[in-house]
Amino acid sequence: MQVPEKINTYCPRCKKHTSHKVSLYKAGRARKLSWGQRQLERKRRGYGGEPRGMLRRKAKTTKKVLLVLTCEECGRKVMRNLGRLAKVEIQR
Ligand SMILES: [Zn+2]
Repeated sequence: MQVPEKINTYCPRCKKHTSHKVSLYKAGRARKLSWGQRQLERKRRGYGGEPRGMLRRKAKTTKKVLLVLTCEECGRKVMRNLGRLAKVEIQR
């Protein structure tokens, strides 16, 4: 899917339609000492196997795409979900 470089859409901070810069969302690096990660490590210790099962066969071949729209007037970022797409390109 082709996505335009700029989208004119509603900004909740400016409370009107403004021009937004489009970029793709990328997940940040997971924290090693987050609460959930510490719990998982505790469950994995010793005997008893993998608590949530090991992923052996991937069912999905695509990832869900999130667009980050940055308001050009105030800089507020708004997310927009596109769902599962095989290929996304931002038009230059
Ligand atoms: Zn704005």
